[in-house]
Amino acid sequence: MRPTKPIYLDHAATTPTDPRVVEAMLPYFTEAYGNPSSTHRFGRTADNAVEKARETIAGILNCERREIVFTSCGTESDNLALRTTAITAKLRGETAHLLTAHTEHHAISHTAAQLEQTMGTRVTWLPVEADGTVDPAALQALLDGTTGADTLVSVMYANNEVGTIQPIPKLAAVAHAAGALFHTDAVQAGGQLPMDVKALGADMLALTAHKFYGPKGVGLLYVRDGLSIIPAQTGGGQEAQRRAGTHNVPLIVGMAKALELAYAELNNRTTHYRHLRDRLIEGVLATILGATLTGADGDHRLPNHASFILDGIDANALLMHLDLSGIACSSGSACNTGNPEPSDVLLCLGYEPARALGSLRLTVGQQTTDADIDYVLQVLPQAVQRVRGVREAQGLL
Ligand code: PLP
Repeated sequence: MRPTKPIYLDHAATTPTDPRVVEAMLPYFTEAYGNPSSTHRFGRTADNAVEKARETIAGILNCERREIVFTSCGTESDNLALRTTAITAKLRGETAHLLTAHTEHHAISHTAAQLEQTMGTRVTWLPVEADGTVDPAALQALLDGTTGADTLVSVMYANNEVGTIQPIPKLAAVAHAAGALFHTDAVQAGGQLPMDVKALGADMLALTAHKFYGPKGVGLLYVRDGLSIIPAQTGGGQEAQRRAGTHNVPLIVGMAKALELAYAELNNRTTHYRHLRDRLIEGVLATILGATLTGADGDHRLPNHASFILDGIDANALLMHLDLSGIACSSGSACNTGNPEPSDVLLCLGYEPARALGSLRLTVGQQTTDADIDYVLQVLPQAVQRVRGVREAQGLL
């Protein structure tokens, strides 16, 4: 039966803000609205809230408070990590070397390409396995004899389009053995995977609150002690001279609350996600001919993430059919939905462009129920059949 409310299966794009997070944020809009940089009592109240949030987050990341730089989003954090490396090298009269992959979010891959063009940064694109994994041995081979402190390896913790979890501790160890630094875009992993920066071996790590039931417009970059950051925007001395601009106190408080809840409830949340994800994967593969799971499986993929290629499908047409049936999902990255170009990630995984256009991503969340999955598994095969039927009639199949 069609549910009364639309079913949201696009949690990789963003999550609703947890009401407990909203409640924690509210006083900082209306009552405790001071600027944390002001020395009077309003300022001190706001500053205390920012520092308490920093302490909470540092506890979860197993780092020092001073190692957290608050930013406006994951994109800004990723940019800061890469640009700092390029500019620091230039200041030393050297050229930076970035090693990253085409499977990264554009916040990394487009930044690397731009630095290559504008600053002469050397960029090495890492090969990936068919499921999107970066093999530590392949990284090792590319690092042999070429590295130093101006080299940064940047590999995401988990992929937004295909859900693959990377072997971060191993990749970081290989980078460090070669004297290189290691950054990880942990945006999709936030609130789903362990986030101890020491266990991961990250020198820098990016997070954004809106992927773990926090507000949009706030993120962070963890920067290991001893590494300096060249601010991307200059101005005030906030964040120990690393990120100018008045702190967004309510959003920072909200991010800390959301992260605290996510890790306090991690086991329950991920058990729920895995159950629904596995039902989706098994159901889709069993009922839709020409369906292929993209990315890794089992423990090597994000608990909440199911992604497929459906042969003979135009993803945008399918998404429209599903939306009309009350199911909201995406064809891959939210940033690319509506874009008729095949995704860089799927091309990098070796899929033909025509097949890559038939991608579907279903990402479950805390509110998703078994009844939602029942409905999706009932509607999706019919929607696929309809889209294929239209394409066949148009001579496209
Ligand atoms: N990195 C990854 C892996 C993402 O999935 C996203 C957003 O989807 C980002 C970075 C960008 O984060 P934000 O939307 O906070 O800029």
